[in-house]
Amino acid sequence: MSLTAPASPNFNCALCPRLAGFRVENRRLLPDGFNGPVPSFGPLTAPLLIVGLAPGLRGANFTGRPFTGDYAGDLLYAALLNFGFASGVYAATPRDGVQLFHCRITNAVRCVPPQNKPTPQEITTCRCFLAQEMAAMPGLRALLCLGRISHDSAVKALGLRAKDAPFGHGAVHRLASGLTLYDSYHCSRYNTNTGVLTSQMFDAVFEKIVADLKIGSRESEPA
Ligand code: SF4
Repeated sequence: MSLTAPASPNFNCALCPRLAGFRVENRRLLPDGFNGPVPSFGPLTAPLLIVGLAPGLRGANFTGRPFTGDYAGDLLYAALLNFGFASGVYAATPRDGVQLFHCRITNAVRCVPPQNKPTPQEITTCRCFLAQEMAAMPGLRALLCLGRISHDSAVKALGLRAKDAPFGHGAVHRLASGLTLYDSYHCSRYNTNTGVLTSQMFDAVFEKIVADLKIGSRESEPA
């Protein structure tokens, strides 16, 4: 299969001036970090795209791989390994050799925002990259949106209205296009520490996805 890689933001993308300024500051304060728009991870042929919010300062922003290096990543990669979407041993670094199968991970906003809070304008501005990501996946059948912001941005990227597919943990929206959109609360430390999201709740979302996609093997190509 011939695949066209989605357009990725320039490493010095300045479409969001506040985030570009924060990036410059982080390159000075965290000189060993990645400190750029974090590229997506996983095969373009995957049927599932997982959409997070934005890189964490000392997580994906530092390591350069989505959800890698912070608490949210511990939960997400554990679930991916548990449900057959990944192989290897997750060690919070892009050098851990983890490979993804049947899924790809991206973020609604590619650059780390101060206090983990992108502005509505920044979410809108970065949506073009999310839309291109979806368009570049020829076998895309499902989206898993982690949190309301990534859900809302994905819905808009699909050209839908928010009321067509309202966010709710555990919600499953079967869209006319054939795509299915799954929602989960974000697997952040805050949500798990406060009991908003338990590991059982998170697993239940993956159980639905695995059943729908009939994922049961790891024969897919590596990331
Ligand atoms: S968040 Fe997206 S659009 Fe904004 S500066 Fe980063 S890569 Fe560019």
